[in-house]
Amino acid sequence: MLFPWLPLPPRVAARRCASTIRASLQQFVPPSDSVDSSALEQLQSFVSRASCLFIISGAGLSTESGIPDYRSEGVGLYARTNRRPMQHSEFVRSEKSRQRYWARNYVGWPQFSSHQPNSAHLALREWEKRGKVHWLVTQNVDALHSMAGQQRLTELHGCSHRVVCLGCGQLTPRTELQKRFAVLNPGWVASACAVAPDGDVFLEDEQVLNFKVPSCDACGGVLKPEVTFFGDVVNQATVQFVHRKLAESDAVLVAGSSLQVFSGYRFLLAASERQLPIAIVNIGSTRADHLAEIRVSARCGEVLPAIRLN
Ligand SMILES: [Zn+2]
Repeated sequence: MLFPWLPLPPRVAARRCASTIRASLQQFVPPSDSVDSSALEQLQSFVSRASCLFIISGAGLSTESGIPDYRSEGVGLYARTNRRPMQHSEFVRSEKSRQRYWARNYVGWPQFSSHQPNSAHLALREWEKRGKVHWLVTQNVDALHSMAGQQRLTELHGCSHRVVCLGCGQLTPRTELQKRFAVLNPGWVASACAVAPDGDVFLEDEQVLNFKVPSCDACGGVLKPEVTFFGDVVNQATVQFVHRKLAESDAVLVAGSSLQVFSGYRFLLAASERQLPIAIVNIGSTRADHLAEIRVSARCGEVLPAIRLN
């Protein structure tokens, strides 16, 4: 059910003063202004009035855990490297591409899987415990929301901590696959290049050629991270489920996403059609800025823990 919303300015400008953040994370988190008190008050009022909040989170929430995003100016992977996300069709079509993908993933896994939820993940978990959150949809595949204990959660693009067989659909933990890699490739790690600070890995072709990739132990099928690669589509049943959760909500908060990918943006379009009030916390502009009544351009880890719950 909707409740009366006070008229608010369409955009909240942050005061010009640098946000403080640990030096080790500056390579992942775009520079941002500290949120000013009036912006925080407006968001506070927004959250206080919501009783059934639908939250959609993205890469901006996890940069403060040390996981780079793709698109942030200067610090995203697109800006810093030639790396581009694996395309679904290429992974399915090419054994060589799978071999390269898994070799790099194998080397990067110990570091990638060691990332921990940050203060923003923990704040949202606390909001859920206090009955504020109706549903949280994340576009992230890093498992940090579930590690934080979030229960009312849909991982829209899957989770890199699970592996799916393209033959029989069996799901297995990524940690189990790491053990199988180690058994199949004894001594291989010693010849791998060092892991980059962001968990990305660059390997020589020669190293990749010698990497052995196991297949499904149930049916011999191809193994793939249970992640929606670029060029693939999100399961329709999942999309419908999320639309139902959105319809049951009374306000929408975007946390750390530029919403450039349609699979997330479509829920903002649906929210707008339902005339649900929308607030966005994200460093920089987003695709849904014109739909939001509150825009806070600051770090989620700074803003979300500062919100008080009644
Ligand atoms: Zn299988």
